[in-house]
Amino acid sequence: MCGIVAYIGEKEAYPIVIKGLHRLEYRGYDSAGVALINDKLNVYKCKGKVADLENFTKDKDKSGTLGMGHTRWATHGEPNDANAHPHVSQDGKITIIHNGIIENYHPLKEELIKRGHTFKSDTDTEVLVHLIEDIQKNEKTDLAEAVRIALNEVIGAYAIVVISQEEPNQLIGAKKGSPMVVGIGTDEFFIASDATPIVEFTKNVVYLEDEEIAIIRRGEELKIKTIKNKDKTPYVQELELHLEALEKGGYDHFMLKEIYEQPRSIMDSMRGRLNAKEGIVRLGGLSDYEQKMINADRFIIVACGTSWHSGLVGEYLIEDLARIPVEVEYASEFRYRNPIITEKDVVIAISQSGETADTLAAIELAKSKGATIIGICNVIGSSIPRMSHAGSYTHAGPEIGVASTKAFTSQVTVLTLMALSLGRKKGTIPESRFRQLLSELELIPSKVEKLLKANDQIEYIASLFKDSRNFLYLGRGYNFPVALEGALKLKEISYIHAEGYPAAEMKHGPIALIDEEMPVVFIATKKGAYEKVVSNIQEVKARKGKIIAIVTEGDTTVKSMADFVIEIPETEEELMPILSVIPLQLLSYHIAVMRGCNVDQPRNLAKAVTVE
Ligand code: GLU
Repeated sequence: MCGIVAYIGEKEAYPIVIKGLHRLEYRGYDSAGVALINDKLNVYKCKGKVADLENFTKDKDKSGTLGMGHTRWATHGEPNDANAHPHVSQDGKITIIHNGIIENYHPLKEELIKRGHTFKSDTDTEVLVHLIEDIQKNEKTDLAEAVRIALNEVIGAYAIVVISQEEPNQLIGAKKGSPMVVGIGTDEFFIASDATPIVEFTKNVVYLEDEEIAIIRRGEELKIKTIKNKDKTPYVQELELHLEALEKGGYDHFMLKEIYEQPRSIMDSMRGRLNAKEGIVRLGGLSDYEQKMINADRFIIVACGTSWHSGLVGEYLIEDLARIPVEVEYASEFRYRNPIITEKDVVIAISQSGETADTLAAIELAKSKGATIIGICNVIGSSIPRMSHAGSYTHAGPEIGVASTKAFTSQVTVLTLMALSLGRKKGTIPESRFRQLLSELELIPSKVEKLLKANDQIEYIASLFKDSRNFLYLGRGYNFPVALEGALKLKEISYIHAEGYPAAEMKHGPIALIDEEMPVVFIATKKGAYEKVVSNIQEVKARKGKIIAIVTEGDTTVKSMADFVIEIPETEEELMPILSVIPLQLLSYHIAVMRGCNVDQPRNLAKAVTVE
């Protein structure tokens, strides 16, 4: 979590750092701070958002061409002024910003206290800057060397930037388990958690690997070494990111913009990979591993949150179309439960950011047992694709809203392509069915476009249910993961309690909750277990629950029973999740806006979950 940005060059650092923090605010937003070095070090930090920090620094000295900033997502110590980053050393000369967790901070802190250090915060981070100071004083090293030695004592995950008043021409960054990218401009350098604060200044970037330290000095070339003191040659890459993708473009919220981008983002996920006319599906990134996938004993999909829901859709698709057994696992459970993994297993890791800490750890475990790792991620150059044997980017474009929308539909699109391609090669899909699915898939973006026209109707339904305290979401088959995703979306951004269930499971418990106060959202599209869902709707109706149903265009049966229906265009059952999730995204969005919630930055959440 958290956002890091730093600058060294000839320009004033403050405006660059603040703008960068705004771009990174989706990563964490409980407090923010900056450190600037002119002749002396100035540190300003406070609880709240980047805008609060700007207010706080209004009348302060913000000069300096070396500076760094941080938006925090608290792990150790509540979000308050003292715990906000940057943290400073005992003598007030060295300062640090940090993303991640120093797991052994406690023994380190006790040791430092014995040596006379006093601490002003409850964070793990402050311990690290004191440790660096202690090493520098005792071993008489320069700052970069002190950072290197200190990192050898650290257990945990970190992306850090360290600067010192005593060495004002130097910026030091290092990472392990949290992302960090260095931007190389003309006579200037940038460090950030992702490329978004950098893109308008330079397209030349270096993604740091774990346990690498970037040593940046004015007038010198970027130097990289490992914490074991091995020199590395920086691998400079060109960024493909465009600035417009990072702006709201006239929408009130990033989330709404991203919902509306879906016709395009789904198309981008298919671009160059699907040709319905010729009957071709090809995921270029997988070609070397396709045979291995076909021969696999089973697939294990590891993911968290929304990506876990797309993994469930993936299970239905891959088992159905390619007849390969699939297990879908929460990465956080999988990694800690001594799972059985063999060399004949293929592990598919799904993550929007490509940095999800639990998913990364699950991959590491599976890799150590010899499994083949396939990544499905959105952020190019992120850690999961780099750790995987092969994979496919979703190409959804930057997703800034914390609640995932277009990343989900793109993940499902890529999983659909994967299932189709494997099924074709294995011969498990009849040719006519294969062709039919391909043609339908090609039509999905235009159907999403059409579906988005229901926005006003959905807004009206939202206005009627915005004060509900609970929601139930029910679906079967391919629409069951969609029910889970719909409930998660509502919880995340409106703070209304919501549960998703397989519709048939309702009678094994949740039915006890149903009364006239309870809205129940049914995803009741035609095909699949439609008739069964209709019976489940009757069961809710008999108990006076309020029914909002997502139905296929022209449906009359459900219409006669439900309180409200939202129609979606007809498509094949296998492709339905890409359409049926969209009204649920809009419903949550409008309810959250009407309740006055911060849609793009819901409380307690962060976009890239880089802590366990
Ligand atoms: N563990 C640190 C803290 O709680 C850093 C958290 C973050 O990544 O924002 O301050």
